[in-house]
Amino acid sequence: MVKLSNYFLFTKREDPAEAEVISHKLMLRANMIKKLSSGIYLFLPVGWRIFKKLEAIIREEMNKAGAFEIYMPAVHPATLWRQTGRWDIYGNEMLKFTDRNGRECCFGPTHEEVVTWLAAQEVKSWRDLPFTLYQIQVKFRDEIRPRFGVMRSREFIMKDAYSFGKSQDELNEAYDSMYKAYWRIFSRCDLDFKVVEADTGAIGGADSHEFIVLANTGESKIVYCPRCGWAANTERAELKEFKFKKAKYTEKKEINTGEAKTVEEVAKKLETDPSEIAKSVVFTVTFKSKNGEFYDENVMCVVRGDREVNEIKVQNFLSKLKDETVMGLKMYTGEDLPFGNIGPLGFDGMILLDNSLKFIDYFIVGANKEGYHITGIKAGDLKGDNYHWGDFAEAKAGDVCPKCGEALNESRGIEVGHIFKLGIKYSEKLGATFVDKDGKEKPIIMGCYGIGVARTVASIIEQKADKFGCIFPHTVSPFTVGVIDLKANNESSAVALNLYQNLKAKLFNPAILAEDVLLDDRDESPGVKFADADLMGVAYQVVVGRSFVKEGKVELKVRETGERLKISPEEVVDKITEFINHKNKSIEERIRSCPLT
Ligand code: ATP
Ligand code: MG
Repeated sequence: MVKLSNYFLFTKREDPAEAEVISHKLMLRANMIKKLSSGIYLFLPVGWRIFKKLEAIIREEMNKAGAFEIYMPAVHPATLWRQTGRWDIYGNEMLKFTDRNGRECCFGPTHEEVVTWLAAQEVKSWRDLPFTLYQIQVKFRDEIRPRFGVMRSREFIMKDAYSFGKSQDELNEAYDSMYKAYWRIFSRCDLDFKVVEADTGAIGGADSHEFIVLANTGESKIVYCPRCGWAANTERAELKEFKFKKAKYTEKKEINTGEAKTVEEVAKKLETDPSEIAKSVVFTVTFKSKNGEFYDENVMCVVRGDREVNEIKVQNFLSKLKDETVMGLKMYTGEDLPFGNIGPLGFDGMILLDNSLKFIDYFIVGANKEGYHITGIKAGDLKGDNYHWGDFAEAKAGDVCPKCGEALNESRGIEVGHIFKLGIKYSEKLGATFVDKDGKEKPIIMGCYGIGVARTVASIIEQKADKFGCIFPHTVSPFTVGVIDLKANNESSAVALNLYQNLKAKLFNPAILAEDVLLDDRDESPGVKFADADLMGVAYQVVVGRSFVKEGKVELKVRETGERLKISPEEVVDKITEFINHKNKSIEERIRSCPLT
């Protein structure tokens, strides 16, 4: 029985000072979560109910996609992580410690190592493949900036799945089936989301997509095409073409630009567009060589003045070019360079030139001399061993869609899911092989697929909340129905209790959540009861109060739309069923809009 009079719920009226975004504020105020220490949270009854409903959706879709549920340990031996080389690469996000026998361990930030070890132990022949395993399990990542509550916490629960196959085709099949399952999961949360091409980061691999929930406060930036639907993370969006610009200065000449340092200052001084100034940024890049040595190298990256350098693209390009691991890069701040007048001509080191520079006839570069720039430089002037052309700029609104040429839109969002084609990156290193039909031993071809469960809950709130509190579709609402007994008289309270029992018996599937109905029977004012129901995001609210005494009617309120109906208690179950069916239809429509069929 969920009767609020004896439930564990301590809602707050004031916004907590520590929270910046709406979902974090509301989750704290609605007493869904509680902070124990930086990035470490408890889930309380109301929050855990939402979590459990979402978890049930995820589990159902994973099972339907043919994946098998397992559970892997949180503590991993360092040896596995050393075998894949990630003991060092993962960096400070990985929590490392030593047990009483002096053995190094980590608290798993992800499970490729362990699950690949498992496959290496069990799989022998082509007959054992393909299969997909998944778990819903706790991770620890010592995030630099834990924030936004459970959106970016240090300890968090992830649904992670891993596919194992004997061919690229089998990988593609598993990947598509996870893509479709993810589409269904986020649709069932009634989320407005986009699937974007993504960078593969530290996990590595070839193909990758992120599921991004659109929200202005999101940490991810994406571009998408309003015409053909192509979408990508701005870190990844590969740009092939830019709007062509015509330069004002065509003659090659060194000119005094005085105190002007930034692209904007130089452009202003020379009365031209910022796109004519080449922006040169020097990074100190730390590499790890094949024999495990670390060394630093200064690398310059040059983009057209109206663009920004994208460090992830630089990092990926350099690791590929050198076939070594880039451990990190930071902006060079040494004193031997004339900042504001740096340029690619005569720079002592590797130079990366962004393709955008090919879309202007002449541009202006720093002269590597205090107070001077050189005008009239052509893309063709920059050639030699130390120059590399490539894609290094961050995509933004107005850029040309690489698929259809339309101007791109830009938006912010929250990454809730990420799918990767890993290939043989892990299986090769951990010896996860199988004997194929031709008798040859081959590495298993893998994929990995993650969903941040609590982050998804937070993102639903972030996208849908209003000034009264959380809004959820019934599929993940902490309580699908709340019966609010205003305690007008004994008879009305009896009707409220009866409605509560009726709704529970008639509407809900006990296999998922036995108690999806709430009875607010507290001795509180109507205002407090309405505010709490709205704050928690109770999807349908039935108020039994004065109008029952007066005219035998109760009020049914739909939290999402604010719609209110006065009906007799006998009509309540049917009416709510009607609303739920209507909502389910719109969710079905979302599911059907999946580009993969
Ligand atoms: P981010 O770029 O936001 O740090 P990530 O690329 O590190 O995410 P993955 O390694 O792909 O994330 O993890 C899979 C999913 O786990 C993510 O899509 C996200 O939903 C969730 N997740 C990752 N880090 C966190 C975190 N610190 N707190 C809560 N959820 C997280
Ligand atoms: Mg991360």
